[in-house]
Amino acid sequence: MNNYFRNHIRTMASYVPSEQPQPGLEIIKLNSNENPYPPSPVVLDLLKNINGEWLRRYPEPLGGEFRRAASKVLGVPHDWIIVGNGSDEVLNLVVRTCAEPGRKVVYPIPTYVLYVTLVQIQGAEIIEIPYGEDDRFPLEELITADGNVTFIASPNSPSGCIVPMKDLRKLASRLSGVLVIDEAYVDFAQENALALVKEYDNVIVVRTLSKGYSLAGLRLGFGVANPGLLDGLFKVKDSYNIDAIACALGAAAMTDQAYKNACVAKVKASRTKLAADLKQLGFQVGDSQTNFLFVQPPQENAQFLYQRLKERQILVRYFPHPGLDHKLRITVGTDQQNQVLVEALRQICS
Ligand code: PMP
Repeated sequence: MNNYFRNHIRTMASYVPSEQPQPGLEIIKLNSNENPYPPSPVVLDLLKNINGEWLRRYPEPLGGEFRRAASKVLGVPHDWIIVGNGSDEVLNLVVRTCAEPGRKVVYPIPTYVLYVTLVQIQGAEIIEIPYGEDDRFPLEELITADGNVTFIASPNSPSGCIVPMKDLRKLASRLSGVLVIDEAYVDFAQENALALVKEYDNVIVVRTLSKGYSLAGLRLGFGVANPGLLDGLFKVKDSYNIDAIACALGAAAMTDQAYKNACVAKVKASRTKLAADLKQLGFQVGDSQTNFLFVQPPQENAQFLYQRLKERQILVRYFPHPGLDHKLRITVGTDQQNQVLVEALRQICS
């Protein structure tokens, strides 16, 4: 079978997403940075009213209804927005549009592990630049590498840290290629980089409805950039990459900012409490501008804790990669879920 595949597909490792158990099982799922609260009631009401006519017809190719709703919230014209099947698809569109063998894709590591997969499939050159001591952002090294595409996740995963605006601005002005600012977790952060898309025509800011808006299962994300940059991505995308239901429900979610903001505020309050509880158990807890914490256990190794928690039906994220395998990434759940987690850790560690 292997012989059928292109050479570099034959040898590349598969992207391994976090475990996704069947819904309905009694599991406390803190491994994929989902929002613990349901989507807005406005979204759920609309879902009940979907009829066969929506499904009979093809959807709007560019997701017009969503673009118009997002445009109002973001304060950018609708034609500065591209909609994707999750923000993963928007990231992939940038790679497919701008990268190829002989071109460089650059990003600091550790970061979102999908980037490497997307670039390997495309066959472009990968330059990974390690974050420095104490998570120093390797600004000068990224400028020197000058990728055709540079990915920056801000806030980053798994560290939870944000890249300062002044560094992003400097990158945007100095790079000759495209700067992708992946803001999947921006709803939980103190600042965002959206303003840069108006200042620099090589910047695309990528966002998702999977986190702040509690819609990971819907698969809806978007990119914001000047229409000249989006033109290339539109050429590459599938004709109907967003289904009619995702487009309409996503638009409804955008209209209910008050609900999203209330959920985000609850998650942020729970984040503070969970961080304090874990510190009390002796964990080292990094600052987080996301809906997760990246923590180092006191004595027991991270893999051991991950397994003991899993036996108790609590899923957290363990990365078996060198440099990450002494830590766990824990999504902030409801206060009740977090309490069960902390109690389980107290028992396992005692
Ligand atoms: N970027 C980062 C940094 C992420 O952690 C994730 C989610 N795992 C994504 C993008 C993709 O999110 P989605 O495809 O659900 O929009």
